[in-house]
Amino acid sequence: MMKPFEVDYIIVGQGLAGSAVALQLLKRDKSILVIDRIKPNAPSRVAVGLFNPITGRHSIKTWFADLLFPYFHEFYKEAEVLTNQRCFYPAPLYKPFASIEEQNEWMSKSADPGYYGYVESINTRPAFSFVKDQFGGMILNQCGYLDTISYLSAVRGLIRARGTLLEETFEEGLLIPGDQEIRYRNYTSAHIIFCQGLDAAEWFKWVPVLPLKGETIRIQSDHSQNIIVNRGVYVVPANQNGTWRVGATYSLTDRADGITEQARNELTSKLSELVTFSYEIVGQDWGNRPTTHDRRPILGSHPEYPRMHIFNGMGPKGVSLAPYFSDILVKYIENGDPLNKDVNIERYKSLYWSPSTRL
Ligand SMILES: Cc1cc2nc3c(=O)[nH]c(=O)nc-3n(C[C@H](O)[C@H](O)[C@H](O)COP(=O)(O)OP(=O)(O)OC[C@H]3O[C@@H](n4cnc5c(N)ncnc54)[C@H](O)[C@@H]3O)c2cc1C
Repeated sequence: MMKPFEVDYIIVGQGLAGSAVALQLLKRDKSILVIDRIKPNAPSRVAVGLFNPITGRHSIKTWFADLLFPYFHEFYKEAEVLTNQRCFYPAPLYKPFASIEEQNEWMSKSADPGYYGYVESINTRPAFSFVKDQFGGMILNQCGYLDTISYLSAVRGLIRARGTLLEETFEEGLLIPGDQEIRYRNYTSAHIIFCQGLDAAEWFKWVPVLPLKGETIRIQSDHSQNIIVNRGVYVVPANQNGTWRVGATYSLTDRADGITEQARNELTSKLSELVTFSYEIVGQDWGNRPTTHDRRPILGSHPEYPRMHIFNGMGPKGVSLAPYFSDILVKYIENGDPLNKDVNIERYKSLYWSPSTRL
């Protein structure tokens, strides 16, 4: 019989979550086997890749921003060096104000130490001719976008060169979880980490990861300023000359595959309230984000199989969440460092899992 091939870790899924875990492990000189089949509409492949510390309808500093943002800026710059591939594009973001009240609110908020480093400047008058900004707006720092297709392909190349990659569907029936090791086909491993987004494996099906459908459009115009604009929708410069990306819609109820006219109309209507330039729509994309009820990622181990772990629930912010929390997960597995209760799988265990759930 052939001797099994031993690795330190098996990773199932190579989206933004699995890629971050793979990089963390390769940087620690761990041996890895990554199993991933390319799924064209996987959220990691259709994501615009925007990162922005001030988000939401009420424009507030995003959860954990002070830890996440400095961390992922270094992480992606290092990934570019490791893979020799450009994919990370920091860029200023302009947020026009909707009213004088909002302008006043930000005049005082920007002096708050909690916002140091995030607000570059406040404009009390219109600042950009291509934006509808009659009340002025603010320029934010630490924003930009990750070209996710280039990043995923660069990380895939690194996995091929320094680990093992199986470009196929992971067959759950072939996995044997043991006390001492995990077996899969002709491989043995100390640990397995499931990073499958919405296609969760049986063992973690009890963890509620919900689809949040999103659509974006690609537009072409002569306009060429390298600044992201965001109010209602975001408009992000893309790599190809003259092609910008506009997003995104959010729907928990539309479970159908494919693009819709309704989403296109929503995006173009919001876009017309934001910019003055003319454009042509050259494409539309859709995908489902893996979200959680409490909008926090899910990290931790299976209640019955301590060598099986999950890294999921990146929701609409995979670019900013995956680098920092993959580090936290690896430190938890390798050193036994405790997990923050907000992200720990334990929060779902009492609600959804019992030994009779078997898997
Ligand atoms: C329209 C849209 C726009 C978005 N824009 C942004 C944005 O601007 N900024 C941002 O931060 N986030 C954005 N997101 C969210 C972001 O895409 C997600 O947070 C992120 O992609 C989730 O990554 P993941 O690795 O968990 O999941 P996925 O991308 O789903 O990756 C899972 C991988 O596992 C593989 N897999 C699953 N099961 C198996 C199996 N059995 N065998 C083999 N392989 C398997 C899949 O094929 C896939 O490759 C957007 C999402 C959408 C839909």
